[in-house]
Amino acid sequence: MSDLHTLSVKALASLLQTKQVSAVEVATRFLARLGGNPHNAFLDIDSEVTLAQARASDAKLAAATAGPLEGVPVAHKDVFVTRDFVTTAGSKILQGYRSPFDATVVQRLAQAGMVSLGKLNCDEFAMGSANENSAYGAVTNPWDTARVPGGSSGGSAAAVAARLVPAATGTDTGGSIRQPASFCGITGIKPTYGRASRYGMIAYASSLDQAGPIARSAEDCALLLSAMCGPDLDRDSTSLDMPCEDFNAGLNNPIEGLRIGIPKEFFGEGLHADVRAAVDGALREFEKLGAQLVPISLPRTELSIPVYYIIAPAEASSNLSRFDGVKFGHRAKDYVDLIDMYKKTRAEGFGNEVKRRIMTGAYVLSHGYYDAYYLQAQKIRRMIADDFQNAFKTCDVIAGPVAPSVAWKMGENANDPVADYLADIFTLPASLAGLPGMSLPAGFGAHGMPVGLQLIGNYFKEAQLLNAAHCLQQATDWHSQKPKEI
Ligand code: GLN
Repeated sequence: MSDLHTLSVKALASLLQTKQVSAVEVATRFLARLGGNPHNAFLDIDSEVTLAQARASDAKLAAATAGPLEGVPVAHKDVFVTRDFVTTAGSKILQGYRSPFDATVVQRLAQAGMVSLGKLNCDEFAMGSANENSAYGAVTNPWDTARVPGGSSGGSAAAVAARLVPAATGTDTGGSIRQPASFCGITGIKPTYGRASRYGMIAYASSLDQAGPIARSAEDCALLLSAMCGPDLDRDSTSLDMPCEDFNAGLNNPIEGLRIGIPKEFFGEGLHADVRAAVDGALREFEKLGAQLVPISLPRTELSIPVYYIIAPAEASSNLSRFDGVKFGHRAKDYVDLIDMYKKTRAEGFGNEVKRRIMTGAYVLSHGYYDAYYLQAQKIRRMIADDFQNAFKTCDVIAGPVAPSVAWKMGENANDPVADYLADIFTLPASLAGLPGMSLPAGFGAHGMPVGLQLIGNYFKEAQLLNAAHCLQQATDWHSQKPKEI
């Protein structure tokens, strides 16, 4: 079958379970597409490892001990540590690093039967909105290689959009699943904070980091999410003691009467007209399906930018102190004493954006500034979360754009990091509140680039989000559009 790479997770799983195709055949087909590393999406590929996993899947399929996703390929964002592949978090400081264990999310997807094609490029330590901050080079957008794929899970999104892999893992601290999914015309979901284990996910900002799947449809995302979530209490202190759900069981529930809140702050001046038009189009489709649009307000939306860019760097400056040349990763060659070794190792190993975040974080946490910045930001974070609870009194889900514009040209913001920060405005609020959020294709905007619709749900309402997204995807075909030459 030559079109295996175009099939969904669901279709591949069913072909494998019914033995119409073997896991080795599927893996071989996908590996063949990775030659030359299209879009610079992958950071590590090892066909021997992949084929060994595929052979093990075939054995389980033959013995009827297969998992639900047995033999279906996946690839992992390079912030998930893996035993069988190198893990770098997109940073020079971890060049060549091999973890002694697999992240829980990686382990759970393997238990469900998924076969790993390798590790995906990302912004260094997941800091970025364009995947231009990777120490291993930028990722290009399959819809237009002169444009960014979004970030920080840019390799994950580009690989899924280019049909290099049917689904991938991503992480979302302030939008890194939703925004690249939006820029690459695919679907991604970040669950409620605490639903997916952070064990083995290299920490950026621990109170915000959350893992989730990126695939082409809500249905495929639901298949992965059902395998990824669930308690991991011994290994992640913020893991929720809540059983994982079968998120596919609830798909296809009619959405007649669903109240979709439309925050007026998401449709203000900064929103580009092409994105607004596409989002409006998707909302009209929801209305045709019987949903009801309800005006709401999230009055502190604008504050989410300064609040996030205080809290996330503060946590990052603490989390990244472990990369000191002693325990793992890069160590400077020439140094006179321990302090000099720390300094040189970190100066050589970290990229500019990471250094900027560490310095910002150390500053906002320092004596004399802590109350003015960090503490203040935490108070406003609470208010942002309260604003959502207020909004959910009159609506079931919230909808709006994922980003103010379509994917921008590579290099466009090279000298202006704040421009990238500002583009996170619509994804940051749900992250700060710890709410589940997703992005799904909603047509195209300027330059023929994809536009994403964002759906935000209340805590633990992933099933409702996925169902709403699935219903829309049953009625429209934006999610099945693909870049030219595929
Ligand atoms: N763009 C945001 C940042 O740079 C979000 C990144 C993310 O979610 N990992 O921090």
